[in-house]
Amino acid sequence: MSQTKKFASQADLEEKKVTFSQISEHAWAYTAEGDPNTGIIIGDDAVLVADTQATPAMAADVIRRIREVTDKPIKYVVLTHYHAVRVLGASAYKAEGAQQILASQDTYDLIVERGEADKASEIGRFPRLFQNVETVPAGMTWPTMTFTGKMTLWLGKLEVQLLQLGRGHTKGDTVVWLPGEKTLLSGDLVEFDATPYAGDAYFKDWPQTLDNLAALQPAALVPGRGAALTTPQDVAAGLQGTRDFIADVYASVSEGAEAGKDLNTVYKDTYARLKPKYGHWVIFDHCMPFDVTRCYDEATQYVDPRVWTAERDIEMWKSLEG
Ligand SMILES: [Zn+2]
Repeated sequence: MSQTKKFASQADLEEKKVTFSQISEHAWAYTAEGDPNTGIIIGDDAVLVADTQATPAMAADVIRRIREVTDKPIKYVVLTHYHAVRVLGASAYKAEGAQQILASQDTYDLIVERGEADKASEIGRFPRLFQNVETVPAGMTWPTMTFTGKMTLWLGKLEVQLLQLGRGHTKGDTVVWLPGEKTLLSGDLVEFDATPYAGDAYFKDWPQTLDNLAALQPAALVPGRGAALTTPQDVAAGLQGTRDFIADVYASVSEGAEAGKDLNTVYKDTYARLKPKYGHWVIFDHCMPFDVTRCYDEATQYVDPRVWTAERDIEMWKSLEG
């Protein structure tokens, strides 16, 4: 190989610029040029935060921004899924008085099954996001309330729905939906100008789940990564870009697997095929080895994603990237 790529995001050390903006009557987006986003709902009597950031130190900046626009209590924390870069900041909101940490039962089950392994794995992948990792309390971030399918919260008169609309990015994906103002917080089910991470994904289900999101006809959407989408046209572009990427990875990988090619060959073919179209999206080089490995698994013999550990991450990277 002409050059060896640094593992995952270990070479990505440049701080990102944060944007905190109101996207509908009750919703705000905390975004940072492709780093994991946080969505904020400010209701009549309380605040809901969806996804917490990687560490309490990073969450403190979200809280600082929220306090610039409201002094209402932060009552609810929603985990859209179990990934460490999204959940390990939760203790900062508990210190602010958050009463409930909400997640789907499927997300809870994934934390039981693979939360510890995922924590170690993600800390290795994202040194910049975890630079204050010592502020994360020991152990896991446990939801205090779980649901299956749908849960409705009332922040005063404001209706907030937590919905499981299918598997995609993970088995437990949850979106936050404000029916009154057609605003959606999608978690990592939708990305914008950022590469979807699919190492724990269900490639065959993800496109249908995106269709289910589209059926809500969102007018505004906070993706998992990338800028907030504030027109129906931008929302459609975010959904379409994510759908195309997932479909293109699956088409390339399943074709190679059916032809009897090994993972290494399929990886190199798929990387070359997707690079021209998606190579400018953030974390493209980071995601591709994980995405293709999971996709090859799904196309061959593993219905469910295998657990990533810090050790498996490095082994996989060495074998695909040299
Ligand atoms: Zn994720």
